[in-house]
Amino acid sequence: MIDLHTHTDHSDGSSTPPDLVRLATTVGLRALAITDHDTLSGYDEAARSVPEALELIPGIEITTKWERDNIHLLGYFLTGDPGTGFRQWLEVTHRDRAERNVRLVERLNTLGVWIRLDEVEALGRTMTGRPHFARLLVAKGYVKTMEEAFSRYLGEHAEAFVERRGPGLVEAIERIRAAGGVSSLAHPVRIGFPGQGQELEFLGSMKEAGLNAIEAFHPDQTAADSARYLELARRYGFAVTGGSDFHGSNKVGTRLGNPTVGMEWLDRLRAAEPPA
Ligand code: AMP
Ligand code: FE
Ligand code: FE
Ligand code: ZN
Repeated sequence: MIDLHTHTDHSDGSSTPPDLVRLATTVGLRALAITDHDTLSGYDEAARSVPEALELIPGIEITTKWERDNIHLLGYFLTGDPGTGFRQWLEVTHRDRAERNVRLVERLNTLGVWIRLDEVEALGRTMTGRPHFARLLVAKGYVKTMEEAFSRYLGEHAEAFVERRGPGLVEAIERIRAAGGVSSLAHPVRIGFPGQGQELEFLGSMKEAGLNAIEAFHPDQTAADSARYLELARRYGFAVTGGSDFHGSNKVGTRLGNPTVGMEWLDRLRAAEPPA
């Protein structure tokens, strides 16, 4: 069993990297990819102590722009060779995020939600994100749950939503490739295509852009969804990935190793091989 989609407290998960590694061992994972949002630092920390029985894969989840949508792109096998410039490129996304956070605090303040940037940054580590804002809003009694924080204030259609600059999807695919990595389209079910024609056209153009894989297994995707993504992967020649999108206590309902993903998918991913 493997899990190729997890977050630590370096982005918006609740577990420290060593705790996540321990948990991976406890649930019997053979391979674990840490895919923090826009940073490799959680992986770096975890890499210092990995038990022999576990393969730790350097990964990332990048928030990218495509037309009017924000699309999450996973990257794997990013050895982090400083020569590729990948880490320097990530710094730009960190500045965009920091700038968004300043505006988000201002926006919340104008709505009568009194929080300060230093308070929210105290909850985040490398990456302060909306889940940290949500936790602060709960702690200060403005909302009862993190979900309510998103539906009332922070979500894409909520009152305080502030757009963040970000790299284009194709640029991110190319950056991952240039860094010697493999890219995978995260939780494709969340991309709201108006119809199947648009989805097929999109996948065809992403294949041409150099996308390597799609995430066929994810807790938001039903068994029928997964079967469909496997079929689409065969049709376009994509490898497939899968994972739990584990965020610990920062996102209810995610459990490490759920859904179950077999080791054979990792072997295929390495070879950039589509499902048989
Ligand atoms: P950010 O990168 O700071 O914009 O925060 C994005 C993160 O917020 C996502 O990766 C999710 O973990 C979380 N998130 C986004 N929308 C929602 C939502 N509607 N409910 C709960 N969590 C959300
Ligand atoms: Fe997240
Ligand atoms: Fe995501
Ligand atoms: Zn994720």
